[in-house]
Amino acid sequence: MASFRTIDDLGDLTGKKVLLRSDLNVPVQDGRVSDKTRLTATAPTIKDLLAKGATVLVLSHFDRPKGKRVPEMSLKPIAPALGEVLGMDVAFVDDCVGAEAEAAVAALPAGSVAVLENTRFHAGEEKNDAELAQGMARLGDIFVNDAFSAAHRAHASTEALARVLPAYAGRSMEKELTALENGLGNPERPVAAVVGGAKVSSKLDVLTNLVGKVDHLIIGGGMANTFLAARGVSVGKSLCEHDLAETALSILAKADEAGCTVHLPYDVVVAKEFKANAENRVVNVHEVGEDEMILDVGPAAVEALGDVLKVCKTVVWNGPLGAFEIAPFDRATVALAKTAAALTQGGSLTSVAGGGDTVAALNHAGVSQDFTFISTAGGAFLEWMEGKALPGVEALKN
Ligand code: AMP
Repeated sequence: MASFRTIDDLGDLTGKKVLLRSDLNVPVQDGRVSDKTRLTATAPTIKDLLAKGATVLVLSHFDRPKGKRVPEMSLKPIAPALGEVLGMDVAFVDDCVGAEAEAAVAALPAGSVAVLENTRFHAGEEKNDAELAQGMARLGDIFVNDAFSAAHRAHASTEALARVLPAYAGRSMEKELTALENGLGNPERPVAAVVGGAKVSSKLDVLTNLVGKVDHLIIGGGMANTFLAARGVSVGKSLCEHDLAETALSILAKADEAGCTVHLPYDVVVAKEFKANAENRVVNVHEVGEDEMILDVGPAAVEALGDVLKVCKTVVWNGPLGAFEIAPFDRATVALAKTAAALTQGGSLTSVAGGGDTVAALNHAGVSQDFTFISTAGGAFLEWMEGKALPGVEALKN
């Protein structure tokens, strides 16, 4: 697929400064980084650049300061946390542009790593301002983008900068793009998509794009209720967007035309209350009581869905099949995730998953290590599932 350049295309970088766009927007609690996943994710890129002799200047946004200096949103405390992950000292430079930053960067020892201050302290960042990008570019010789999770936004440090300096994909970006290409871009067929979660309205573009691309579309979660209701099923008190019935039917019609089989649950787990261990029963979708709500896909449907995955070579997954945060309505999600994981480990299935709740659900199922790839990007992963071009990725292609 290599339609963009990677670190492998870079030669000796001795004496060169690399501007590396990472995602250092990590959760911080009481001044300490509580989840280092994103730091660990970009570490291999930094190490490879150092091994080639470069000085690495890490650019990132942090939180939403909206173009102003907000001291609580400084990246300063992240520098030592990144240092711990890398096992070396990491310097901090108080700005990502301007004369002072240029002087501080010039004073760095060759072969060192520095975190530059929050790009969003500048209003031009979110405006994809060319002048800001020019200013950043004065600090370095080469641009490497390792922040797939920020690639759906055309910002100065993700898009404009890639058009000013020679641009390359970092290791983490490369891994994401390769996995996504194998998942939907050019997947081994048959390919299935699992789309769950609360609402149809938040994933309309995802569903519309997928029916034209996949062989099997598995719909679960609250959004399945909207489809069932559109087909005339009484869903009682279930979460359901009745006003989207027409939309749901047109998605089903489009699937039909494209030769995509849509799988909706035919048995479901229902309860009268939305709470852990609520009294519940398994029923056929046509037997949901007026005072009941559907909280999970039923065991017979889950088994059939597992059989679908068995004949597929690829699965792309976003969203839980049920209200997985509360027991026992996590069962369908856990069971299908385990099937996907086992098929992946057995070598017959490539499994790609992503999106905030999905990662939590797969962690809950204990299968995160067994999927081919799990993207930690939320918005960028969804926009990719919608079939949209991601500005940060497009800019790397030129
Ligand atoms: P999303 O953020 O759109 O992926 O939605 C995830 C949320 O959907 C989770 O918090 C689930 O609890 C919720 N959810 C999944 N299935 C159902 C359901 N049948 N009824 C209500 N909520 C559900």
